[in-house]
Amino acid sequence: MASEGPHSRLSNVVSIFLYSNRMPPRRSLSDSDALYILETIGSGEMTQKELATQFKISLPTVNALVTGRTYKHLRGRERGDRQPLGEGRYGFPVTPERRREREASFWARVDMSGGPAACWPFEGAKPGKYGLVQLGAYLVGSTAAFVVAYCLARGLVKAPASGHVIRHLCNNKPCCNPAHLLLGTHQENALDRLAAQRDGSTGPRLVDEPVPPPQGGWIIPSGDMEELERRARASEFWQRVDRSGGEDSCWPWIGRGKHKFGYGQMKWMGIPMTSHRIAYILSNDLAPEDVSRNIHIRHRCPPGGSPNNCNNPKHLLPGTAADNRADCKEDGNMPMGEKHHKGRNFQDALIREIREHYWTAPAEVRPTLTALACRHGVSISTISSWLTGKTRLAAGGPTSRLR
Ligand SMILES: [Zn+2]
Ligand SMILES: [Zn+2]
Repeated sequence: MASEGPHSRLSNVVSIFLYSNRMPPRRSLSDSDALYILETIGSGEMTQKELATQFKISLPTVNALVTGRTYKHLRGRERGDRQPLGEGRYGFPVTPERRREREASFWARVDMSGGPAACWPFEGAKPGKYGLVQLGAYLVGSTAAFVVAYCLARGLVKAPASGHVIRHLCNNKPCCNPAHLLLGTHQENALDRLAAQRDGSTGPRLVDEPVPPPQGGWIIPSGDMEELERRARASEFWQRVDRSGGEDSCWPWIGRGKHKFGYGQMKWMGIPMTSHRIAYILSNDLAPEDVSRNIHIRHRCPPGGSPNNCNNPKHLLPGTAADNRADCKEDGNMPMGEKHHKGRNFQDALIREIREHYWTAPAEVRPTLTALACRHGVSISTISSWLTGKTRLAAGGPTSRLR
């Protein structure tokens, strides 16, 4: 049915049959389709009605797009208002390192191999189409690659406001060379196109008078992407650690994600990790795989500090699980008895009661260990350890040797 096209009689009949009591299905346009429509209307190549037919959308939809009521982010109108620029996740601002990484990763997708005078096509942009970059929405509030290039190269944090367009002096839509991009009005843009049509040169053309760079040149950050990402991630980590107490104080975690034992937690290269582990890795310039799972990062905070939630590398020491347990005993933090996660289900009072019942009863009426184990849902060896006092001695009650 779809292949018959909108004007096919059969298709119309089927449509009426299917949608007789319903509105036609709504279809939303992709950003690149919307840009194409704006472009085509601007050039006068097609009418709104023809475009509505071509994209199988309603005329009011095309009209809303053309008059700027919808797809505002593509028009330079209220650009960036969809999401607050500079806002990071969870209320933390974007760090300068993260911004630099994002800018460099944008430019990494621009092909500058032709040299400063040539067109710089955006990676993946089809000839005659604008490249779109999702990242641009965070950087300058526009997803059109050439708009992002125009703003970043000039150090602008927001795309030009309504009523302005960025003209391609080279008439080459995927081009991101800032020397080919000039701010103008919609009218100037339309005149550009008309002039080009009159000359019969609709394709890319050489730029006689490139836009001169500002003082200090175009701002085009680059660098080792892995290194930039590493720095950006580190900056985001330290942003979530409160270091206001000074070099020797405890540095609590103020980011989201609290581990159940009070540790901070963050995803690190896709793996959830406790924050003090990340602090240790970062301060020692290690990779996560350098610190095996068997190595515990111990908190050696001065008395009065905030153990468990401290991320000051000066207070962190690697060790084994045994070291960690010894630390806890020394600090009096070792969870014992009913406070231990395994003992939690068996209150001291219960164990005391079991002992009293067992040891005060005459030997011939005492329940068997098996019966007791079944009743309390534990193993026979657990019951026997309780009764002899080998474990949970602090719970109280009589203990003795089993025969
Ligand atoms: Zn160009
Ligand atoms: Zn500390």
